[in-house]
Amino acid sequence: MLNAEILAIGSELLTPHRTDTNSLWLTERLNSVGIAVKLKTVVGDDEARMEESLRDALRRSDIIISTGGLGPTEDDITRKVFARVTGCTLTMDYDVLAEIRQRITSRGYEMTPNNERQALIPRGAMVLPNPNGTAPGIRMEQDGKLIVLLPGPPRENQPMFDDYVMPLLEKRSRGIRIATRVLKAAGIGESQLDDKIAPIYKQYSNPTTTILFTEAGVEIHLTATAESTARAEELVEELADLLEEKLENYVYSTRGESLEEVIGQRLLLRRYTIATAESCTGGLIAQRITEVPGASEYFVGSVVSYTNEMKTRLLGVEAELIEEHGAVSGIVAEAMAQGIKERTGATIGVSVTGLAGPGGGTDAVPVGTVYIGLADDVGVSNKRLVLPGDRYLIRWRASTIALEMVRRRYLL
Ligand code: AMP
Ligand code: MG
Repeated sequence: MLNAEILAIGSELLTPHRTDTNSLWLTERLNSVGIAVKLKTVVGDDEARMEESLRDALRRSDIIISTGGLGPTEDDITRKVFARVTGCTLTMDYDVLAEIRQRITSRGYEMTPNNERQALIPRGAMVLPNPNGTAPGIRMEQDGKLIVLLPGPPRENQPMFDDYVMPLLEKRSRGIRIATRVLKAAGIGESQLDDKIAPIYKQYSNPTTTILFTEAGVEIHLTATAESTARAEELVEELADLLEEKLENYVYSTRGESLEEVIGQRLLLRRYTIATAESCTGGLIAQRITEVPGASEYFVGSVVSYTNEMKTRLLGVEAELIEEHGAVSGIVAEAMAQGIKERTGATIGVSVTGLAGPGGGTDAVPVGTVYIGLADDVGVSNKRLVLPGDRYLIRWRASTIALEMVRRRYLL
């Protein structure tokens, strides 16, 4: 498999104000033709550092792609540094110069001497036209290695890469193709999940398996390489099926769908409707459900009842119940779920009451305590959780577990 590395050039990319996104986009493209990205470097507009980075890159990688630093200003030194390291002289390309002049004057601007610098091309290199800007890209080969220099702005470098680099890469990678599959699981911790499936996926080096923790659960990413897309698909399919079988109902999606999408599809299928009464999640569950287009078919509405008074006034939770058991209690969660179900006429009422912190915890009700209530035509129930994490994570986890409880109880 060919190795690529990416140099993201620009001092602004080292600050909190601008993030390097070019390398992410490029990595996906390279991976799609079976080229592995083994390293990426963010390097400022600094000659010495850029030179070192490029020398290292040429030593270890088959394909080197840089973005940025091809502009007309003093700090745009990519061209100069690459020419020095590869030992090519920069020569004025008069066709390129004419194009730049045409582009600038047609917009009513004056051509300045620094614009001319963008027409300096390393001898023997190929010029990659840039329909969306003045800086052309450069493609060259050295000792069998492919070097591509692209301008920084994504709207300029993306079409250039697709038009002038991808066809070459497809040829070079000798038809290696990649297939990926994402399994998503909820209601199970990362280590517990790994414990179940590691004995299976460790027997496979192709596909490779990566386990990721996200705020919406645990994801298993499988990547297979093969000589054809069909064969790569077969390979991921085989392992995905084994893992899904082992994890049973913990897996809620095998094609990348979100939990709320899966729930929406199944509610629709069963002609159920749902409503939420949310205290500590402040409407997050409703927000997640309604992010899916068409949610109005099954989502009825939500009450964000933050104060005790609103729990009583809007959901009919008896004040004495809150007084006696506390707002964060199983009984109040059940009354909230019952209240929203009755008031909206939904098939399923879901409620959350809890303490997301950071303050307000006691021995009896520590920060992270969350009760989730479910009400349907048959009855009501609640579940107590003590969730780890900060305020943000506690709220997110509570919403995920509530959605997962709905899926488990009503939608398997
Ligand atoms: P340059 O080609 O260095 O003049 O870059 C011009 C502009 O492209 C920068 O100001 C950024 O807005 C954008 N840019 C440069 N590098 C990147 C990158 N790695 N990811 C995303 N945007 C970038
Ligand atoms: Mg720059």
